[in-house]
Amino acid sequence: MLVDRFGRAHTYLRIAVTDRCNLRCVYCTPATGVARCAPEALLTVAEIVRVARLLVSLGIRKIRLTGGEPTLRPGIDRLVAQLAALPGLETLAMTTNGVLLPGQAAALRASGLMALNVSLDTLREERYARIAGHPGLPRVLAGIQEALAAGFVPLKLNVVVMGGINADELLDFVAFTADQPVNVRFIEYMPFPGNQWQAARFVSYPTMKQAITSRYPLVPLDDAAGVAKRFQVPGFQGTVSFITPLSAAFCAHCNRLRLTADGLLKTCLFHPAEADLRPALRDGTPDAALADQIRRAVGRKLPGHRPVADLVAGGDRSMLQIGG
Ligand code: SAM
Repeated sequence: MLVDRFGRAHTYLRIAVTDRCNLRCVYCTPATGVARCAPEALLTVAEIVRVARLLVSLGIRKIRLTGGEPTLRPGIDRLVAQLAALPGLETLAMTTNGVLLPGQAAALRASGLMALNVSLDTLREERYARIAGHPGLPRVLAGIQEALAAGFVPLKLNVVVMGGINADELLDFVAFTADQPVNVRFIEYMPFPGNQWQAARFVSYPTMKQAITSRYPLVPLDDAAGVAKRFQVPGFQGTVSFITPLSAAFCAHCNRLRLTADGLLKTCLFHPAEADLRPALRDGTPDAALADQIRRAVGRKLPGHRPVADLVAGGDRSMLQIGG
């Protein structure tokens, strides 16, 4: 098991399968653009599967594919199928912006993908184009319906809430859960290098909750995954969650590791990578030595992330390059 100095067992791996994205979301992509990895730096399908297999043998039980935009990765269905077949893996999930879901959702499901999160920050078409840097809301909404029809139920919808941008849609998103089997997850806006962070745009969990409960009663539910605070409006089909990395950090229970598209292992979203696995993957290093490299990286994991003020000052990679 991958247990760190603070007794945290690591069971959840997030893999960025590409550093390319077809959107330029204001809170994610630096306005100045991002230097792309050289194609040869990207892990191959075989390399990703090797690391995943090793990590599953060390205790990882859930893998989430992210990016960049994971549906842009050529051969994503084949990667999904190989990961889904790993003995010991209990959940294989993906986070996508949904633009390419129409026509792909059923194939992903058939390949073995078990759960899907779609990022959707607004229900208004013009606003979508402004936030995402690209029009496309109808495609995403169509993709959501295809994903539901393909069996991704409940479907999770990730909403990054920003004051002056989309915070006035909290009630609209709650209303969306009335007759859709979705879990709308309101995420606190986080600072990353170059993401035009403004403290004034930050909307905390208590503020969001208060705005919603002024209109809808929220009944608390258990959340098996642990990091979300989950609620339901009585009589509604879907549910509503809050993800609170800043107002109530979950570092003490963090069970996550992250693998970037170019093979860096990160033990904290807000901390520079702990280990570069790519050289070992390419120089014939055996699994046992690779596992040691991973264990040492987990052993160096810090008890928690830095204060928000330090995060604003900068980290080493944008969210686009880490994958959330
Ligand atoms: N392209 C995919 C997508 O859009 O879902 C996967 C990658 S994206 C980086 C993963 C998640 O990170 C998305 O749900 C996005 O909303 C979230 N995210 C990105 N930047 C964020 C920020 N500054 N604060 C909070 N969440 C953020």
